[in-house]
Amino acid sequence: MLRSFSPSSVSAAALVAFCIVINCASYSQNSAGPEPVPLPPPVPLPLDRPYEGTISLSVDLTNLTDRILNVHETIPVKSGQITLLYPQWLPGTHSPSNPVANMAGLLAVANGKRVPWLRDRVDMWAFHIDVPKGATTLELTFQYLAPVRPQQGRISNKIADLKWNAVLFYPAGYFSRRIQFAPELRLPEGWKFATALEVKSQNGNVIQFKDTTLNTLIDSPLYTGVNYKRVDLSTGPDNPVFLDVFTDKPEQLEITPEELQYHKNLVVQAQKLFNSRHYDHYDFLFSLSDSVAGQGLEHHQSSEDGTRANYFTDWAAGIPGRALLPHEYTHSWNGKFRRPADLWTANFNEPMQNDLLWVYEGLTDYYGNVLTARSGMRTPEQSRDAIAQIAAAFEASPGRTWRSLLDTTNQPIVSEHGAAPQIWPSWERSYDYYPESDLIWLEADTKIRQMSNGQKSLDDFAKLFFGINNGSYVTVTYTLEDLVKAMNSVQPYDWAGFFRARVYEVAPEVPENGIRQGGYRLIYNDVEPEWAKHADPSRPTSFGTSLGFTVAGQGGPNAGTPGAITDVWWDSPAFKAGITPDMQLQGVNDQAFSISNLRQAIVAAENGNAPIKLLLKRDDQFLTITLDYHGGLRHPHLERVGSAPDLLDAVIAPVN
Ligand SMILES: [Zn+2]
Repeated sequence: MLRSFSPSSVSAAALVAFCIVINCASYSQNSAGPEPVPLPPPVPLPLDRPYEGTISLSVDLTNLTDRILNVHETIPVKSGQITLLYPQWLPGTHSPSNPVANMAGLLAVANGKRVPWLRDRVDMWAFHIDVPKGATTLELTFQYLAPVRPQQGRISNKIADLKWNAVLFYPAGYFSRRIQFAPELRLPEGWKFATALEVKSQNGNVIQFKDTTLNTLIDSPLYTGVNYKRVDLSTGPDNPVFLDVFTDKPEQLEITPEELQYHKNLVVQAQKLFNSRHYDHYDFLFSLSDSVAGQGLEHHQSSEDGTRANYFTDWAAGIPGRALLPHEYTHSWNGKFRRPADLWTANFNEPMQNDLLWVYEGLTDYYGNVLTARSGMRTPEQSRDAIAQIAAAFEASPGRTWRSLLDTTNQPIVSEHGAAPQIWPSWERSYDYYPESDLIWLEADTKIRQMSNGQKSLDDFAKLFFGINNGSYVTVTYTLEDLVKAMNSVQPYDWAGFFRARVYEVAPEVPENGIRQGGYRLIYNDVEPEWAKHADPSRPTSFGTSLGFTVAGQGGPNAGTPGAITDVWWDSPAFKAGITPDMQLQGVNDQAFSISNLRQAIVAAENGNAPIKLLLKRDDQFLTITLDYHGGLRHPHLERVGSAPDLLDAVIAPVN
């Protein structure tokens, strides 16, 4: 890979060139070099013992113009070797994703003097320090350099998302739940904030939080901003739930009574589904912004959520992403409270193993979509369309013929090591353990309903598996065997074989039994769902189920230049004709390209014999490619099958 040189790397680059000419390796062996630096000690493994003393952490957020977070940390120490860890593996991302490359300016002081630190040669997140005699504290200062462009990060001039994992070091050798922190935060003047942390005191823009464990601190991020509104969604004093909304502009905080009711319904329906809670109070930290990036990241007692600025002001536009809050809220039960045993780690630098993400994420996606429907956030028809879109995307993606769903659970880690984005995602497969698991869990749910004559469902599994230890947020781990056992106690069946065939083995067939058992079948026609017409115009439009490519319409920050081909489906008509995901579509049937005239050309070809003629540009070359395609637009829908019981509509109906 070619990287541009910065001033500090010019000399290094020159040295590399020099070495190639004179072969430095043999040269240095023959010369008397400096004394070798001793190898750093091994990184101590985490043990279940308390770290003595409380670490004071002070984070200064006042320089948000430059997106620079200044950190001062006071760590109680004894003299001798200590290894400090910058968190590496982050829960919820399921990968070694904490950006250690953005940490800079690290300075350690003991006994009033600067002491050197040495980064581990193998573990880039570990820093060794030899604490001098007599020192009882180590003072650390450093900066976290957040991306300057808000679209690449989570900080703008109006909103900031503070992830504590980016602004702290902690000692190696201890379980993270046994390390105590006293956090303090300095905010820009007048900025408001929300977090699941408990406030100890506030003096103007300086907030001190109650002492907490490292686990709870990292699990309790903070949103701060200029425009803020807290909305009460509680079902009662025993179940306090809040929506903490931060926006670019004050008018984007306005919520209609109908929208408010949908969000209250969500909390009511989640209670009916899980019959428990695993938080003292729950806060949806919710940014509505066209400047900071969107996100969804789960925590025990809160979630970091972010979507477009028009969430409340143009409700119809948000149907595709409507499951965001239901999904993240479900994680409080599935993922945070109950967690696969090999996804539980003793600290934030032990590697995670992702093989049960088809439950952690996949079942959360299923319940999230179910709660989206039951709360009224999507209509039943919109909910069926969402399922149809998932199934249709898999029908157009042949990656399942070589890669099991299980192997896709490694994708968060694979992506950290590879070049993103993917080039041919329909063949490579990516985070398929989310949407494909929706289809598999729908099959399991409708199977239970069929076998029990409607007496049992996956709702019973939710209460059995996630409804234990009401009020506790101490994680209870589980294995595949535990899961199968619980499924069998709801409804006896060969669940081990069921999951083996669909998840653990290569399964070329798209798992559509749940749709059929639900009383529906997948069809394609030229009718675009009404909600799809409100989609974000700056995003590319998919023709994946017809011609086999995705193309940017009007262009924009998320789509590149107009006409840019952003994806080509493997084995699709476009793929077979030689269209590649670096081309730009300029003309359709001798007319200038637009999304609407491309749609018209597809419909015209469906009703006639003439092929579709495309003018494409690749680098400085123009190509004319004709597609002899007559299959129509192929928008996916679910169609009711006459006599079968309507189990799908029973799944998505609100529980009384
Ligand atoms: Zn999730």
